[in-house]
Amino acid sequence: MKKISVLGATGSIGTQALDVIEKSGGAYSAYCICAGSSVKKLSELANKYRPEIVGITDDTKAHELSLALTYSPKIIAGQDAACICAGLSEADVVVNGISGMAGTLPLIAAVEAGKRIAAANKESIVCAHTLFDGMKTCGTEGLTHPFPNGAHIIPVDSEQSAIFQCLEKGDNVKSLILTASGGAFRDLTAEELENVTAEDALAHPTWSMGKNITIDSATLFNKGLEIMEAAFLFGINDVEVLIHRQSIVHSMVRFRDGSIKAQLSVPDMRGAIQYAFSYPDREKSPIDELNLTQKPLTFEHPDTHKYPAIELAYEALKDGKVLPIVFNAANEVARERFIRGECKFTDIAKIVAYAMKKADTAMQAASISDIIETDAAARRYAAERIIDN
Ligand code: NDP
Ligand code: MG
Repeated sequence: MKKISVLGATGSIGTQALDVIEKSGGAYSAYCICAGSSVKKLSELANKYRPEIVGITDDTKAHELSLALTYSPKIIAGQDAACICAGLSEADVVVNGISGMAGTLPLIAAVEAGKRIAAANKESIVCAHTLFDGMKTCGTEGLTHPFPNGAHIIPVDSEQSAIFQCLEKGDNVKSLILTASGGAFRDLTAEELENVTAEDALAHPTWSMGKNITIDSATLFNKGLEIMEAAFLFGINDVEVLIHRQSIVHSMVRFRDGSIKAQLSVPDMRGAIQYAFSYPDREKSPIDELNLTQKPLTFEHPDTHKYPAIELAYEALKDGKVLPIVFNAANEVARERFIRGECKFTDIAKIVAYAMKKADTAMQAASISDIIETDAAARRYAAERIIDN
C-alpha cells in the first residue's frame, strides 16, 4: 500500500486525490492531510479518512481542529506545517494541491526529502524551476528523470500529464501542444469582456476546479502559466496553444517526422492524479470511460488580442528566470483585485504587463530568498498600478 500525503487536502485537487485513494481498494492510503485554515472541512476529511498526521498552517485553528477530531492523529500546526508534511519520511507520494505561490516551499521540501511529487501546483514549478537543475520530469528516455536523492515530479495538471504520457526522447520532439478550453468567456468578443464580473468568470464550461484557477482559465493566465510549466518540466521551449472546446484531448506532442501523439480522456482530474500515483503502471480508475462517438473534436488558434496572457507568458518564458515569477505574482494580485471588484477583468493583463515592465530582470532567481524577493516586488508593482479607465 502506498502512503500518500495530500497537501491542500480541502481543495478541489485535494478532495479528488482523497477520492482516488478511497476508491483504490487499498492500493493507497491517506497518510497525512494538510490545509491552510479551513478547519471544519479538514476535520471532516480527517475523521473520514483517518490519516496518521493532520497539518494546518494557520496555528490559531489548531485547538479548534483538535476538538473537532474524533480520533487522535498527530497534529502539525503553524507556518511550516505544509513543508513538514511534504517531507515526512514514511510517505511514498506527496500531492501538491496547494493553490498559488504558497505551494513553492512545500514543493522544495518534498524534493529535498526525496519524494515522488504528484504536482498539481503549477505556480511552484514556474517560480522555483531555477533551483532544480535538471528538474525535467521527462529525461531523454521519456521516463521520469529523478533527482540524485530519488525525488521525482510527476505532473498532475492535465495538460502536463498528457504530455508526460506522450513524450519520447527529447530530440524526437518538435513542439508541445497545450490545449485550452477557452474558459467561461470563450464565446464573447474582446469588447464584451470589458464588463464581465468574477461571478461570470467562475462558470467554467467543462472543468470543475478551485476559484483561482477557474478565473485564470477565463483570462487564459492559467494557460500562460502552463506554457512555462511545460517548458520547465520537459525542457522544451517550443510550446503551442490551441483552443479545444471539448476538453477531451488534454494535450499533444508534435514530433519531427510530422506525427502527433495525443492523450484523451473525459475531463476528470482524478485520471491524472491516479496516474501520478500508479506510474509507471496503470490501474483501474474511478473516471468514466470516454465515448469517442459522442462529440466532434475541434481545435482553433487562440485570439491573442482577446487573451494577452499568452503573449505575456511567451515573453516571461524568454526571460526564464525573473519574469515567470513576476507573471505569476502579479496575476495573483490582479486576480484578487478583480474578485474584490476593484478592477475590470481586462485590467488583469494590464496590471501583469505593468509589473513585468517594472521588474528588474537583471536580478537572479537562483535561491529561495531571490524568488521570495522577486515575488514580493512584483506584488507591490501589481498593487500600485493605478487603474485609469
Ligand atoms: P483550491 O483553492 O480548491 O484549494 C487550495 C488548497 O490549498 C486548499 O486545501 C487550501 O486550504 C490550501 N492552501 C491554500 N493556502 C495554503 C497555505 N498557505 N498552506 C497550506 N495550504 C494552503 O485549489 P485547487 O485545488 O483548484 O488548485 C490547487 C493547485 O492545483 C493550483 O496550483 C491549481 O493551479 C492546480 N490545478 C488545479 C486543478 C483543478 O482541477 N482544481 C487542475 C490543474 C491544476 P484551505 O481550504 O484551508 O484554505
Ligand atoms: Mg491544466
